[in-house]
This record gives sequence, structure tokens and C-alpha cells, in this order.
Amino acid sequence: MLTPEKVKEVLKENTVNLRFHARGGQGGVTASNLCVEAFYGYGICQPRFGAERMGSPTESYVRLSANADLIRSNEQVYSPHFVSVLDPSLLGEIDVTAGLPKGGWLIVNTTLDQVSIQQIVGRKDISIATIDATRIALDILGRNITNTIILGALIRVSHIFSVDELADAIMRRFVGKIAGTNIEAIKQAVEDTCVYDIGIDPDFTTDNKVPWQQVDLDLPGYKELDLAGVWYCDEDVINVGSDQVNTGSWGEWDVIWDEEKCTDCAQCWYICPDFAILRKKGEDGLWHMAGIDHFHCKSCLNCLEVCPVDAISKKLRQGPAACAVPEEQEGGN
Ligand code: SF4
Ligand code: SF4
Repeated sequence: MLTPEKVKEVLKENTVNLRFHARGGQGGVTASNLCVEAFYGYGICQPRFGAERMGSPTESYVRLSANADLIRSNEQVYSPHFVSVLDPSLLGEIDVTAGLPKGGWLIVNTTLDQVSIQQIVGRKDISIATIDATRIALDILGRNITNTIILGALIRVSHIFSVDELADAIMRRFVGKIAGTNIEAIKQAVEDTCVYDIGIDPDFTTDNKVPWQQVDLDLPGYKELDLAGVWYCDEDVINVGSDQVNTGSWGEWDVIWDEEKCTDCAQCWYICPDFAILRKKGEDGLWHMAGIDHFHCKSCLNCLEVCPVDAISKKLRQGPAACAVPEEQEGGN
């Protein structure tokens, strides 16, 4: 089991590597910045953006060490010791445990229990921490920003910095009430985190770099394509395009349309960034609102904001958090 003393010793001659998986707009990069700002030694962080589109998968990387010479790499973190996942829907899309060694930590914002997480990622040799950061964010911050809250779970299992050190970093970055509520939410997260520790510490001295990992869309890679790695989005060549991407898995809300209240003003249709407002031609020859395409609705809530008659509402998808360690193994607490 990692202790603050053990981690301090590791940091003298090694790096501790972190990787954050989030969706565009969730603040994964801010979380990685805060780790560097809260850490007493030396640190570096870099982001990697994909489609640069709100809701698309992003990654950010952090290297921390008490030895300044060990963090001078601009390469992305291929061998993380701690992986934090801000959005549970990423678990099925990205190989989030790529490069995570035996005994490494996977920290997930989820209501799922650790057994379910093990099954989804197909790993029984890693330690898992879960936190219902979405619920804490909605209760304390009033909006679903979970990036600082997941750091509470990270503190609980990693000991790389303390709550007070993180609170100082937050007060330097945010002002007034925002800083106060974030610190309150972090403290709540430290308390609420469900921990399943397999009792094996990750090896901080070896590199588990895997050469490539990316969103799996069952598409050919650049090596299989003749056209210099360019995807030509002609359906006769490759059936690809944003209509193939299940952006409906990106958000935390179910968006509900009330046909009775709807006045067919089409304001929601104009503002929807994902063409998720369905319309159909009526017998009168005009186009009418017909519902919401939940495969593509990423619950940005723009339509809910603009609807003048409250014909659109939202319902939180997730249920209450569960905490259940795998029965066949010891070490849960
Ligand atoms: S919440 Fe509304 S505006 Fe946003 S993607 Fe869904 S249908 Fe479109
Ligand atoms: S904005 Fe509201 S009233 Fe207008 S079409 Fe959309 S759901 Fe109907």
C-alpha cells in the first residue's frame, strides 16, 4: 500500500506519471495544471486534444519528481502510474489502462462499483478508486465540473500532495466563492472515494510504453490506407463521418422533449450543435419538431436554454453510487 513516506521516497529518484482522460470542456487540462501547482517538487504537464470539439475525448499528462532532471520530457505519458477518468463513458471507447503497470491506479468518476470497472477495462491486476464526482459537483458547485473533485480521489490514493497543498493551488488560480466551493468539494471527494487496493505498488522504475492507442472506431489505421493516411469520407470508400460517432454517450443528462408544450418555433433546431433535433415533414408540407436523436444528443443543454416554453427538460442519467470490491480478491477497503 502506498503511504506518504513511501511516495516521497519514490519521488526522489523517479517520476510519478499521471494521465487524465476527459471530454472537451470538462477541464482535464486544468486538473493536470493543478497537480503541478500543488506539488512541492518539479512538474510538467501537457495536453493532447483530439477533434477540439466540446465533448470529444481529450488527454492530459503530468510528470512529477523531486529531481528536476527527470521531468524534462515533452512526450505524452505512455506509462502512467495513476490514470484519472473524468467521464465514465470513455471507459468503453478508450484503452484508458494502456501502459498502466500491475498495481497502478485507475481512478474513475462513476457510480459503478469496482467489480464493474474491472470487467469493463478487462484488468484485475490494478487498483481501482471510484468517486461519484458528478453528484458532488452538482450538489456543491451547482454544475457538472468534476475536474477538481477527481483530484480529491487522486489525493486519497496517491499521496503525491495533500489537500492543503491543493487548496493553496486552487486559491492561487480561482477567486472567492469558486475557490471555496471547489475546496469543499475536494474534501468531500477525499471522504467519499471508494478504494479497492490490490496491495501491490506500481513499479515506478520501468517504462511500460505502448506505441499507440486511440479511439477505437473499427477504422483502418494510417498504415492500411493508400491515400497517405487521409480518411476520404466517401461512403463508398470508408463509411465514416460524425454521424457514425455516438455523441449521445458523451453527456450526463437525458434530454426530454414535451410534445404537448412545444410550439414548433424551431429555436432548438437552430442552436443544436449536433443536429440532434429531429424534424419531419407533416401533411401540411411544413417541417415540424419530431423529437430528439439520443444517439447524437450530447446533452450540451443549449436547446433547453433557448426553448421559450420549457418544452425541453433534463434528467440525470446516473443512479446512486455503488461501492463493491471484487469478492474473489482481498485488499478492498
Ligand atoms: S442538448 Fe439539445 S442542443 Fe444539445 S445536443 Fe442535445 S438536442 Fe442538441
Ligand atoms: S425550442 Fe422548444 S418550443 Fe421551440 S421547437 Fe424546440 S422544443 Fe419546441
